[in-house]
Amino acid sequence: MNYVSTRNSKVSISASQAITKGISSEGGLFVPETLPKLSLEDISALSKLDYVGRAKSVLSLFLTDFTEQEIDSCVNGAYATGSFSSPAVAPVVNLEGNTNILELWKGPTCAFKDMALQILPRLMTVSAGKSAKGTEIVILVATSGDTGKAALEGFKDVENTRILVFYPNDGVSPMQKLQMCTQEGANVGVCAIEGNFDDAQSGVKKIFTDKRVAEILASNSMAFSSANSINWGRLVPQVVYYISAYCDMVTSGQVELGGKVNFVVPTGNFGNILAAYYAMEMGVPVNRLICASNKNSVLTEFLTTGVYDRNRDFYTTISPSMDILISSNLERLLYAMSCDEQVAEWMESLSKNGKYEVSKEILEKISAVFSAGYCDDEQTKQTISRVFRQNNYLCDTHTAVAVKVYEDYKASTGDATPTVIASTANPFKFSKAVLEAVEGTAEGLDEFEMVERLAEVTGESCPAQLANLRDKTVRFTDCCGKDSSSMEKVVMGMLGI
Ligand SMILES: *Cc1c(COP(=O)(O)O)cnc(C)c1O
Repeated sequence: MNYVSTRNSKVSISASQAITKGISSEGGLFVPETLPKLSLEDISALSKLDYVGRAKSVLSLFLTDFTEQEIDSCVNGAYATGSFSSPAVAPVVNLEGNTNILELWKGPTCAFKDMALQILPRLMTVSAGKSAKGTEIVILVATSGDTGKAALEGFKDVENTRILVFYPNDGVSPMQKLQMCTQEGANVGVCAIEGNFDDAQSGVKKIFTDKRVAEILASNSMAFSSANSINWGRLVPQVVYYISAYCDMVTSGQVELGGKVNFVVPTGNFGNILAAYYAMEMGVPVNRLICASNKNSVLTEFLTTGVYDRNRDFYTTISPSMDILISSNLERLLYAMSCDEQVAEWMESLSKNGKYEVSKEILEKISAVFSAGYCDDEQTKQTISRVFRQNNYLCDTHTAVAVKVYEDYKASTGDATPTVIASTANPFKFSKAVLEAVEGTAEGLDEFEMVERLAEVTGESCPAQLANLRDKTVRFTDCCGKDSSSMEKVVMGMLGI
C-alpha cells in the first residue's frame, strides 16, 4: 500500500518512506491511497485478541513494507514491556449507563500521546533502516505540552536519532514544563519560545520544508523528521485504539457486533479524532464523531458552517493541549472528502489569509458524520466537579471538555447511542485546575502541594513519574524568539553545525 500527499497525489511513496519523511516536500501530509477494510467477522476475530494482538493485526494492514517480525518487535516493545500501567493498555471503563471512557493515559508520561509515541521511534528506526540507511534522523517537535514530553521519552537514547522540542513559554502547565525540562537522555534538547503553539508549529514546519536547511543537514548525513501528528506513524497507532475500544464494547455486551457507537474526542490538532474517522471508514460501526473544543472553538465553527477562520483571539485555557487555531490534521479529512488540488488551494488560502471556506456539498459530507461543540474554562471545572461527585470519576481538564460537549449533544439531540469518550490525560498533570474544580481553590499551594492535596481530597493517587519530578534536576532553561530564524539557530546549535 502506498501513501500519497494531500497536496499532490502524484507523490506516492511506501509506508516506511512516509514515516521517515514525516511531511511531503510541498507541505502536504501523507495519507494511505486507499483504506484497508475490516468486515464484522474481522472485528469479531480482533475482539478475541489482547491489545498487542489487535495492534499487530491493524498495523500490518497499513505498514505493508514492514515484515511481520518487524511489526511484532515494534508492537511488543511499545505495549508489552510494562511501560503502560494497565495490562489492557487502553482500557474502556463505564462512567454511567451507556457512557464510557476510553483511558488513553496509562503510558509513561500520563497523556494519550504515549499511545503513539511509545511506538513511533521504533517504527521510525525500522523505516530509516529501509529508506535512509546511514542517516541520522533529527526529530523536531512543536508541542502544546504533552507531545513534547511523550516524544522525548519515546526517543531518548534511541540510536541514530536526535530530538529537539519547542514549547510555548506561557502555554503549558507547570507539570508539563517540568516534565520536559528535566528530561534525561544524551540525544535530547528542549527550548521554550516566546509565542504560542501555532507559532511553534509554523516555525517547525518552515524549517522542515526549507530546502537550504535540508541541504545543510544532508551534507552532515542528517535528515529531519517529525514526531507531530503530521507524521503518519503517529496516526496509525491511534487508529488501533478506536478499533480496540469497539471490540471492548462488543465484549462487554454494551453493543452487539455491528451495533453503532459514538466517539467523543477532545480535539486540538485534529489527530485523535481523525484516527476515529479512519477506524470508521475501515468498518467500525459509528453513528457520530463528536468533536469537542475549548474556548478556541475554530473547529466547532468549521464543522458546523464550513468556514475555517483562524483570524480570531487566541485563548490560553486550562486545557492547554487544545489551545490551537491551526488544526493540521484537518487537511487529511479535507483530502478524504475532496481532492489534492482543492486541498492545496484551501491550504494556500489558510496560509495567506488565515481562512478558507468549503462548498455546501463538502459541508454536507462533513455534517453526515461529525457533530461539534465547545465549552469554556468555567464549564470545564463545573464538569470535573459534577462528574467527580456524581460518578466518583476524576477527569482531567481536556477529558472534561469532551464530557461537557457530549452532555450538551445528548441534551439537544436525545441520541441514546452507546458512547465512548476519549480521555486524554491523567488529572494529576493539571492539578491546579482540577483541584480548583473539586475544592473551589488551590491558593497558597505550590505544584506538588496541590498534587498532594488533590490526592487527599479525591482518594486517587498521583502516578510516581509525576510525583518524582520534584527531585529531578532541571536540564533545559533556554527560550528563543518565535520567528523561524531564531528557532533555526537553536536547531543548528544543538546539532553542532
Ligand atoms: C494532544 C492532546 C489533545 C488533542 O489531541 P489532537 O490529536 O491534537 O486533536 C487533547 N488532550 C490532551 C491531553 C492532549 O495531550
